[in-house]
Amino acid sequence: MADKKIPYKIYLNEDEMPKSWYNLRADMKNKPAPLLNPGTLQPLKAEELAPIFCEELVAQELDETTPYIEIPAEIRDFYKMYRPSPLVRAYCLEEKLQTPAKIYYKFEGNNTSGSHKLNSAIAQAYYAKKQGLKGVTTETGAGQWGTALSMACSYFDLDCKVYMVKVSYEQKPFRREVMRTYGASVVPSPSETTEVGRKILAEHPGTTGSLGCAISEAVEVATKNPGYRYVLGSVLNQVLLHQSVIGLETKIALDKYGIKPDMIIGCAGGGSNLGGLIAPFMGEKLRGEADYRIIAVEPASCPSFTRGTFAYDFCDTGMICPLAKMYTLGSGFIPSPNHAGGLRFHGMSTTLSQLYHDGFMEAVSVEQNSVFEAAEQFARIEGILPAPESSHAIRAAIDEAIKCKETGEEKTIVFGLTGTGYFDLVAYQKYNDGEMTDEIPTDEQIAASVARLPKVE
Ligand SMILES: *Cc1c(COP(=O)(O)O)cnc(C)c1O
Repeated sequence: MADKKIPYKIYLNEDEMPKSWYNLRADMKNKPAPLLNPGTLQPLKAEELAPIFCEELVAQELDETTPYIEIPAEIRDFYKMYRPSPLVRAYCLEEKLQTPAKIYYKFEGNNTSGSHKLNSAIAQAYYAKKQGLKGVTTETGAGQWGTALSMACSYFDLDCKVYMVKVSYEQKPFRREVMRTYGASVVPSPSETTEVGRKILAEHPGTTGSLGCAISEAVEVATKNPGYRYVLGSVLNQVLLHQSVIGLETKIALDKYGIKPDMIIGCAGGGSNLGGLIAPFMGEKLRGEADYRIIAVEPASCPSFTRGTFAYDFCDTGMICPLAKMYTLGSGFIPSPNHAGGLRFHGMSTTLSQLYHDGFMEAVSVEQNSVFEAAEQFARIEGILPAPESSHAIRAAIDEAIKCKETGEEKTIVFGLTGTGYFDLVAYQKYNDGEMTDEIPTDEQIAASVARLPKVE
């Protein structure tokens, strides 16, 4: 039996909650490469980003020197409604696995959006409101970001237009209704409502869509409608900044009990939850104050870190967005529609890409069936029905705990449990019916997609 001096759930008091976000880039020697203007291939200036993003968010996006940025009081008040999120000691899972490892997870699913995405949505909506905008546009894949943004916009009385990847729109009608309940309008993407959507539909009739297509549509609508800006739920530096609240709370909770993790594990789609969870730990690592193994977990069907190329690429399929230097599978890469587990973006945060490139973190890819097997095991033991995305991290954490069992090492593992899976029951149904397949792109498919990367010196 593990000794249980550490509570099952470590909570923080309101006055212990972080008052500033932590900007990891400030401690990086090799800064992430700048976003480039797709026309001139020159680094984007604030005034070029201003027609797309809110002013304050542009400033945050470009700020790579200020380590701590104060969280405005209005946002902290909103955070208090659903934060701090619990850091849970997975005693029951440890016992079931018969592992000497100590497993902790930071649970971000305790809000209606069901994920960590609300942490950045509320910040982005706040800055849009502060700038006097009418509304914002965005894309959503699985629907968590759209839901989070709808909640944030309704709180600040902003209009919210969501372009939802068609395959998810069809698989997740209930997500759509939650968004509409919060007042958002939801359009399946690609759609006939935008120029870029019509072009994509003409070239790929019957396409089930991708995040890249939906981004192109949302950006077009934001730039063509006065009083609107585009907001993004992952990938960007500003989003990682807001998500640092996850890691800061985790660090405060661990420090309370003198716990030092050996490894920190998170799933990686665009990199926002992982970037947020690891932020203060990676900061220590970069400053040479501590060392941790940091592990990104991605799906084998969309393996940007483990099989992608570190190069400048478009963030969207329509190739209208800035170029970002990142690990990418190519902006034309569309993961198999059979891949139900989220994390479908072709690229990765520039910050995490640089850190991975410089050897500060590791990455593994895992196959869909094994992810759902881990999800099922976790649900049955720890009680929480995890989101498929989160279950990638569960898979890797369980694998590491099993290794500890073999070696007898008492490692402390912290992983990010980013959300709940109540809207992913079509995917769970496939798994339960034994109909889930693992669709892994071939080397030829990836090479063909990467061959179309833009040429940047
Ligand atoms: C969006 C999402 C992710 C992946 O996005 P990141 O930006 O990589 O964090 C992971 N888990 C859940 C529950 C999500 O909603």
